[in-house]
Amino acid sequence: MLIVLDPDAPPAVVAALRARLADAGCALHESRGDGFLALGLVGPLAGFTIEDLRRLPGVRQVLPLRESFKLASREFRPGPTVVRVGSVPVGGEAVTLMAGPCSVESREHIHEMARLTRAAGVPILRGGAFKPRTSPYAFQGLGEAGLRHLRDAADAHGLAVVSEVMDAAQIPLFLEYVDLLQVGARNMQNYSLLKELGRIRKPILLKRGPAATIQEWFMSAEYVMAGGNYDVILCERGIRTFETATRYTFDVSAVPVLKQLTHLPVIADPSHAIGVRDKVIPLARAAVAAGADGVIVEFHTAPEEALSDGPQALYPEQLGQLVRELRGISEVIGRRLLEAAAPAGH
Ligand code: PEP
Ligand code: MN
Repeated sequence: MLIVLDPDAPPAVVAALRARLADAGCALHESRGDGFLALGLVGPLAGFTIEDLRRLPGVRQVLPLRESFKLASREFRPGPTVVRVGSVPVGGEAVTLMAGPCSVESREHIHEMARLTRAAGVPILRGGAFKPRTSPYAFQGLGEAGLRHLRDAADAHGLAVVSEVMDAAQIPLFLEYVDLLQVGARNMQNYSLLKELGRIRKPILLKRGPAATIQEWFMSAEYVMAGGNYDVILCERGIRTFETATRYTFDVSAVPVLKQLTHLPVIADPSHAIGVRDKVIPLARAAVAAGADGVIVEFHTAPEEALSDGPQALYPEQLGQLVRELRGISEVIGRRLLEAAAPAGH
């Protein structure tokens, strides 16, 4: 149920209403917009009928939340939600980029990557420290040292940081080092991890599982939001189809579908979707043209020597090209590419 409050209700009436519902055992989720305040009541109505709710002081309207994903839906919040990653906004009018290597490989390397990221005007640095590799014999990431190097490098160049958390036990470490916690495609339905991420107050980048429907993906976002962490960014990163020419199949249609159904920001990961360097830029262009609120890409100073995902990593010059092209596309569709100011001395 969505309990829309009377905009003229005095704060004391609103506080009393909240207290009454909370005392009755209702789980309440607040939705605020322009001149709009509503309480989402998800789960059992704790003995209230809809008529009882309508009669409570301060209530203007009681509406059903029809979608099975309640808090992620535009019924709950007409939106759009702007998620702050450090100080960088994702969602809303601007288009926001994130870039970096697949894995943090060494202190020196990630510092150089951070420098190049900032020089390209990209405000958020990515880099995996705990890697979900298909083979247990492949490079698994530098672990905590990787997170530390990533944070130091980002701080040295004025960037925010995103990295993948693989296990609930790692959350305290991530709270210390990162601004945005990525849930990888393979963990999209790890409900115990999602529940724990619902208890923290840092944003989550929720990638789409390679075999997940949009509905299942929404329900995963709902797991995080039901815990009170409303800052979820959805990332389309390709799904498994019968096609073998590309690593996965990028579902470009998911972008406008999601944008209609949810107030959450939606970004795209063309690197993992297509898996082939020379096709990453065209795909990124398509994603922004389709309405994505941002793009996350992998690049590397020497892709041939990368410890993971080298074949899909852009060269640093290509990152500059990507930024220029996405700037143009954003403008054409009435948006603006959010760019980190050029570093001092450049
Ligand atoms: C990654 O971002 O490096 C990654 C492993 O992505 P995904 O979970 O989408 O495969
Ligand atoms: Mn990767």
